[in-house]
Amino acid sequence: MKAYDGMYIGGAWRPAAGQDVIEVVNPVDEQVIGTVPAGTAEDVDAAVRAARDALPGWAATPPAERAARLAALRDGLVARADEIAETVTAELGSPLKFSQAVHAAVPIAVAGSYAELAATYSFEEKTGNSVVHHEPIGVVAAITPWNYPLHQIVAKVAPALAAGCTIVVKPAEDTPLVARLFAEAVHEAGVPAGVFNLVTGLGPVAGQALAEHPGVDLVSFTGSTAVGRRIAAIAAGQIKKVALELGGKSANVILPTADLAKAVNVGVANVMSNSGQTCSAWTRMLVHRDRYDEAVELAATAAAKYGDRIGPVVNAKQRDRVRGYIEKGVAEGARLVAGGPEAPRETGFFVSPTVFADVTEDMTIAQEEIFGPVLSILQYEDEEDALRIANGTVYGLAGAVWAGDETEAVAFARRMDTGQVDINGGRFNPLAPFGGYKQSGVGRELGVHGLAEYLQTKSLQF
Ligand code: NAP
Ligand code: MG
Repeated sequence: MKAYDGMYIGGAWRPAAGQDVIEVVNPVDEQVIGTVPAGTAEDVDAAVRAARDALPGWAATPPAERAARLAALRDGLVARADEIAETVTAELGSPLKFSQAVHAAVPIAVAGSYAELAATYSFEEKTGNSVVHHEPIGVVAAITPWNYPLHQIVAKVAPALAAGCTIVVKPAEDTPLVARLFAEAVHEAGVPAGVFNLVTGLGPVAGQALAEHPGVDLVSFTGSTAVGRRIAAIAAGQIKKVALELGGKSANVILPTADLAKAVNVGVANVMSNSGQTCSAWTRMLVHRDRYDEAVELAATAAAKYGDRIGPVVNAKQRDRVRGYIEKGVAEGARLVAGGPEAPRETGFFVSPTVFADVTEDMTIAQEEIFGPVLSILQYEDEEDALRIANGTVYGLAGAVWAGDETEAVAFARRMDTGQVDINGGRFNPLAPFGGYKQSGVGRELGVHGLAEYLQTKSLQF
């Protein structure tokens, strides 16, 4: 157990204004592994002022130099990859291999992609008798969740730095330690003082103060729809720009011509990964009625194999929430074919990998985001029925389509109301825009589309 001090503000670790701390708990054994300061409005104000002061200088820094800092930052993350993975494993509970392969590796790839984009993006364009400059939007407030704790920070900070913005990050209270590691890497990368700032603290205190601060030009938030709605309302009052990455209830559509075993196995792995705490997880599997029973059996077998291999969920509240949803699924008449609400272990915030069959569209578990290792399998009659079910939620973040031939899968994917679709098991691409249709959010992250979120245009006419 270690008591970490200070907030990274204006290029140095400065004592917090208040005395309160947040305990960081290891979800595997429920032990407190450290404490960080619980920031207040005073800390947030100091951080936003530092970011405002640093803005003119950083905005005027040539993109090639910003790119060089980002490349140095990527190298710093590479050098710290083991420490990053161990830290995420300690505070989030994910198995070390997953932390290495995803929680450490993806942020490195994303930081690298923005080092490249900063160097190659055209911040100036000509149209007719005008020159259009792409200028930084200003001071960015980044409020991030715990499920991919470093990725979600880097997916905001890297494009903001590339654009010439300055930034204040408020990480999730459950995972502040990897955020502190990141601040050290930013410092060592030679990013000028005040360009990046970190305030740890509670959402309704530090997070809200940051969203409300008049010195902030753009609030970029990832997390629950409920908090996203609040932040959007605050921003509307001040005509601030917002970017929101919210929840999902994505569909994995297995068309009759698909390789069923592959589609089901990849689908189950997708939902169980990170203990189900992935906003873009394909938590609804849609199977044609002729192949339904076979798919259910395959999914139950696949889920049972995960047994002890998945980590816990992040905290006790999340565990109770997920188990509550499983109980609700049973009560509403869905059929448990793997897992269930019982705690698989005495200590730790574990939930059994769970699969429900006979799920109908109107059930709570088919409509609401559970954010745990829970898969619902629904049955469809024909392609139109599958499309109606796939599009039948308030969300539209991600999805998957499986078919015997790619053209058939693409034709279906084009009719889905969702921001990204994996075709026959397509791989994650850190350059592809990520973000939601409908209530899954506003704006996009990653790649050149993610960079554009942090820019505004100025047209000069000649
Ligand atoms: P959350 O409350 O929305 O947390 C996201 C971030 O917002 C955290 O940094 C949080 O701080 C902060 N926050 C909370 N209240 C705030 C406020 N009033 N003003 C400003 N910032 C505020 O999410 P959660 O409670 O951790 O998880 C609840 C559910 O959200 C999950 O079960 C899941 O369904 C969904 N979720 C979605 C995603 C996603 O990637 N789309 C990620 C995480 C969670 P604290 O950490 O101090 O609360
Ligand atoms: Mg919260």
